[in-house]
Amino acid sequence: MLRSAEQSNPAGRPNLVDSFGRTVRDLRISVTDRCNFRCTYCMPEEGMTWLPRTVVLSYEELHRVARICVERFGVDGIRLTGGEPTVRAHLPVLIEKLASLTVPVDADSPRAGRPIDVALTTNGATLALVADDLRRAGLSRINVSLDTLQHAKFRHITKRDELDSVLEGIDVAVAVGLHPVKVNVVVQRGVNDDEIVALAAFGRDKGVEVRFIEFMPLDAQGHWLSDAVVGQDEIVAVINNVFPLEQLPARGAAPADRWRYLDGVGTVGVIPTVTKPFCSDCDRVRLTADGQFRTCLFATDEFDVRHLLRNGASDDDVEALMRRAVGEKWAGHRIGQVSFVRPRRSMSQIGG
Ligand code: SAM
Ligand code: SF4
Repeated sequence: MLRSAEQSNPAGRPNLVDSFGRTVRDLRISVTDRCNFRCTYCMPEEGMTWLPRTVVLSYEELHRVARICVERFGVDGIRLTGGEPTVRAHLPVLIEKLASLTVPVDADSPRAGRPIDVALTTNGATLALVADDLRRAGLSRINVSLDTLQHAKFRHITKRDELDSVLEGIDVAVAVGLHPVKVNVVVQRGVNDDEIVALAAFGRDKGVEVRFIEFMPLDAQGHWLSDAVVGQDEIVAVINNVFPLEQLPARGAAPADRWRYLDGVGTVGVIPTVTKPFCSDCDRVRLTADGQFRTCLFATDEFDVRHLLRNGASDDDVEALMRRAVGEKWAGHRIGQVSFVRPRRSMSQIGG
């Protein structure tokens, strides 16, 4: 059955539903395109052109877009990302504003009547310094990126010597009570695929869920090759060989497939964007740091919310643009097919 973008939930509030019947629940906001790392799979060591500060949305503008999504569509989770979100000044101020948003009581959401869930993805370089402030501001969950436990390899991947800071950041995030703390690992063949078991063991020791991410064709330099992708089946087999696993029930709209360790020591996840796309369950939309609304990481179209925000548009106008965008959302990306077209902007510019 083809559903419309205005389909209502039983309580009457119009959900934001695309033409394939997927309801939007999750908003990813990129707060900056800038970063203090230069991960090889994301951006070049030199030569990135940053957005002029004038086009980057202010915290007031970001809050307005978030409020519209929560009030009008029942969006119940917001994840802040970038670029590196912690390089933006006064990030706790934004988190506090967002954490004060409440999912409407009549929203078709398990969080109806409760504050939205505010999450953050960070490279962790300064996390030890800011984790407590972030938590006090209302952050609940956090994902920290960590692709290797070896200093030289860390420098090779990120072009920065910050492994110890990231490790300390993970410890501090756990200690101040952020929950859950998850660790994101982008697996690249010939780079860190030899550390899959070591990173899984790290997660078990620390009591954090490691999520292995398949390498996606969103690096700024366009160096991605399918040969460099280590697929979910291989990742799971390698871990299962050492730490036997049992798959957990279906992921729903979450991007990760999850397994539990049979000895009871935690869980592990894999985000199989390339080998097992989960587009049919996608509940996400995205806002770039310069205020462009996107319905997919791989979308080639963007919808200019910034123009509306800065030219006197009403909330109804912003809502209408978002409904139009979501109405045009495609079924899924086509990585690996001849029809695949890389988006014009790369991961750090979109907001991963
Ligand atoms: N700077 C923060 C960080 O690194 O966690 C947040 C932004 S980063 C773009 C978000 C996530 O995307 C990180 O976990 C990063 O490892 C991942 N990522 C970046 N480029 C990727 C790529 N080409 N394929 C898969 N994941 C990628
Ligand atoms: Fe920066 Fe994150 Fe991209 Fe690494 S993955 S360069 S930390 S934005």
